[in-house]
Amino acid sequence: MKTLQSIKARTGEAFGAPLPASTEAQVDAAAEAAAATFGDWSASAGSVRAALLRGLASALEADREALVPLADEETALGPVRLNGELDRTAFQLRRFADMAERGDAFKFTDDPAVAGGPPVGHPAMVRVRVPLGPVAMFSASNFPFAFSVLGGDTASALAAGCPVVIKAHSGHLHLSNRVFGLIQQVLKAQGLPAGLIGMIQGGGSDVGVRLVQHPAIAAGAFTGSTRGGAALQAVANARPRPIPFYGELGSVNPVVALPGILAARGAELAATLAGSISLGCGQFCTSPGVIVLLKDAASDAFVTQLQSALAAQMPHAMLTPAMRIAFDAGVAHMIKAGVTTLLHEDGSAEAPRPFLAEVSAREFIAKTALHDEVFGPASLIVRAEHVAQALDVLRAVGGSLTVSLWGVETESAEARQLVRHATQIAGRVLFAGVPTGVAVTAAQQHGGPWPSSTQPMTTSVGDAAMDRFLRPVALQDAPAWLLHRQGQAC
Ligand code: NAP
Repeated sequence: MKTLQSIKARTGEAFGAPLPASTEAQVDAAAEAAAATFGDWSASAGSVRAALLRGLASALEADREALVPLADEETALGPVRLNGELDRTAFQLRRFADMAERGDAFKFTDDPAVAGGPPVGHPAMVRVRVPLGPVAMFSASNFPFAFSVLGGDTASALAAGCPVVIKAHSGHLHLSNRVFGLIQQVLKAQGLPAGLIGMIQGGGSDVGVRLVQHPAIAAGAFTGSTRGGAALQAVANARPRPIPFYGELGSVNPVVALPGILAARGAELAATLAGSISLGCGQFCTSPGVIVLLKDAASDAFVTQLQSALAAQMPHAMLTPAMRIAFDAGVAHMIKAGVTTLLHEDGSAEAPRPFLAEVSAREFIAKTALHDEVFGPASLIVRAEHVAQALDVLRAVGGSLTVSLWGVETESAEARQLVRHATQIAGRVLFAGVPTGVAVTAAQQHGGPWPSSTQPMTTSVGDAAMDRFLRPVALQDAPAWLLHRQGQAC
């Protein structure tokens, strides 16, 4: 039997007993059990879905005293951050519960019949949405609550009427198993089938690939690396019946800061940016990895301010030893590509030090190796000759979860160009503050053009995340009894 060993993120020592990896038969059984619950769950009332989501939120909160220390051992993210993340996860579950109760998944477009011939005349049409089916959900390592077992993908899929099979992340196995135990208790207490939410685990790619290939799986939801997401998307596309694969991937999150705002508030902005770069040891998909500055005195001063603000940061241990190796390799890769190093201190075995480097816009644009995310507390300053060249830098980045534009408060041709280029490559454009921190709200868009997401027209955070798991169907001349269901699937 293949086993999986959890490790303490701070020391790399073994943590807890080894856990069995899911066998092929167990992966198949989880997918089939989810499929067996699909009919009832897809037709369930909003109140039933809301009760489950609220029950899950309460179960998480009630077990906080055990969950947070467990998560801390496996991720080193610290109790303050982890308590906050648990709160956010419970908030998110309840938000989707409210949406389910309101019947948001059942919203439909009523298009009454128009007498006469086409194209003006047409039959009675109602456009409803039906749940896709069982969703394969891949947890990320860096949000052990909010993008993991009971994170936004699971919550939004359940609210939409889809069962879920979770692929637990190898970086927090004991936490995942404890949360899964809570899920099973809530399902039982509410008289719902255990198969509605399944979980599998396994290191390497076998278990996840088998899950995505299973014919009962109707969609994939993934948060993680661009490489892992691309591999699984290829698996989803290569099935005899390809399925939608919603991958939220890595991102470099450019921050464009213009001289005017830097002259006025440089020191304050440098401190804020340094905090964002090193937050959570830089292990955020929204971490600012590229800082675009012009060549002027205010930008020069800002570089010095950022360098000293970043030197004062003390990042904690990374999530896993593999991530630390990848971070060190990413930094070495940047240096090899010819960047000018501004801050590069030796880290300890436990924790890395922040890294800051600079490169000209011309070189950045030419060297695609510099466009990749370095997951960890690293950032690259890109110096442009003028705004037009800053636009070329954004174009070279191509796709990002966010772009931040600092200093475009006044309308001008350049400001409009910056906004146009930013909106063309990012899902979220910020005009103040830093990109780390993603509000769970109605207008949120967390997803952008490749390589930040496999489906840039969807979001994995916020209310619209539920839409990913609903497929439109037009009902033509539907009988009255069907219309009385008001969009609720049969
Ligand atoms: P990861 O290594 O890609 O892992 C994510 C999940 O996919 C894990 O369950 C992993 O399995 C599985 N997996 C990875 N590659 C696979 C493959 N080739 N075949 C089958 N399964 C595979 O990502 P991570 O380390 O958890 O997260 C770090 C990355 O996620 C960063 O790049 C970060 O920017 C990104 N991220 C993005 C968002 C967003 O919303 N866009 C949010 C958070 C993080 P194992 O557990 O067995 O490794």
